[in-house]
Parts: sequence; structure tokens; C-alpha cells
Amino acid sequence: MGIADQINAIQEELSRLGVKLIAVSKTRSVEEILEAYHAGQRVFGENIVQELVAKHDELPKDIEWHLIGHLQSNKVKYIASFINMIHSVDSLKLLKEIDKHGKKHERIIDCLLQIHIASEDTKFGLDHIELIELLRSEEFPRLQHVRIRGLMGIATNTDNQRVVKEEFCELKSLFDGIKASFFKDTPYFDTLSMGMSADYKIAIEQGSTMVRLGSTIFGNR
Ligand SMILES: *Cc1c(COP(=O)(O)O)cnc(C)c1O
Repeated sequence: MGIADQINAIQEELSRLGVKLIAVSKTRSVEEILEAYHAGQRVFGENIVQELVAKHDELPKDIEWHLIGHLQSNKVKYIASFINMIHSVDSLKLLKEIDKHGKKHERIIDCLLQIHIASEDTKFGLDHIELIELLRSEEFPRLQHVRIRGLMGIATNTDNQRVVKEEFCELKSLFDGIKASFFKDTPYFDTLSMGMSADYKIAIEQGSTMVRLGSTIFGNR
């Protein structure tokens, strides 16, 4: 199947379930992205700031760009004017920097807090204690130019579906708990970004509202 057919098939499956699709376009050419765009896809995810900025410059302006990869504080300035959502916020320091640049551009930038759920220690993200510390910090409520929309997590890269399921289940419980304790009166805390090509079906079963699919749409990298 070509890119357009894949987009159509997956969009149909996901829209029935009420799950939002981020088409992960890292390493893909502008032509490949345009093929997905012409099939109706408007939301794309990139993991490297430089590549994201170049593609944003070149591609149609009604694309919604999501940053899904690790973000260094000193690179926030390159994306603050246009980014739609940052999935990879993993420290108060980074959140403060995003807030600062959001203010400069008179924008409120949607963010997800990335939670470490995988057993590999190479993956970025906050653990439960760090998450609570961030949300309870004195500085957090003062940040007026960021909006925490929810949580994001990456499961262990394994064929063992039980492990993946447990990690997603744990993230969903954390999401529900955090929503009840810290975001009870904020209906915009509604996004749980979990699931990639290999595990998105399990993620949706466990309560994902947003999946990040690259190879399923564009083929293997
Ligand atoms: C690359 C990437 C994806 C997409 O991976 P696929 O296996 O191609 O679907 C999703 N999320 C993040 C954070 C990624 O870096």
C-alpha cells in the first residue's frame, strides 16, 4: 500500500475509536510528507529540532507540528513561534524555558509531560516522584504560557506484549490519578500520547488518545 492508502486506512480505524493520529515524518522527504498531506493528513511529528524547522519552512502552513523527541532548553527558541505540541517535556527547567519563549511570541504552548515507563534506561522521561515534584513546585502555577495537555510515554522495545501492556496500563493509571489530583477543573488535560507502529493497538486498548505512527504509514526507515 502507498502512503495515501495507509493514511486513509489508519485514519478510518482511528477516527472510529476517537484516537488522534500523529504521522511521524522524521527522516522522510518533503515529497513523502506531501503525499500524506494530500491524502488529508495535517498532523505531523518530528524528533529533531533542526529537521522540524526545515520542514516547517518548506511545507504548507496549515500543518500542525508536534515535537516528539528530546528537546534541549537552548533549542526551544527555534520552534516556539509555530510548534503545536511538545510531547517530550521532562523537566521544570525545560518547561520554564518553553514558557519564556511562549511569552515572547504571545502564545500558550501545549505540552505533554513525558513519563519514563520503559525498562530500558536510555529513554528520557520523568519518574512518578519527579512528576509530582514538578506539579507541586512553586514555580509551576506561575507559568502562564504553557498548558499541560497530558502525558506521553514510550514502552519498552520488546516482542513481549504483556510487558508493553503493563507499561501502558501503568501510564493510564498515572494519567487518571494526576488528572484527578492536579487537573480536576481543567478539561484541556485530555491527552495521553502512547503507542507507536509496533504497539499502538495495545496502547489504544489501554486508553491512549493519541498515537505516533511512522513506519506504519511511510514504510520502514
Ligand atoms: C520514531 C518515533 C515514533 C514512530 O515510530 P514508528 O515505529 O516508526 O511508528 C513514535 N514516537 C517517537 C517518540 C519516535 O521517536
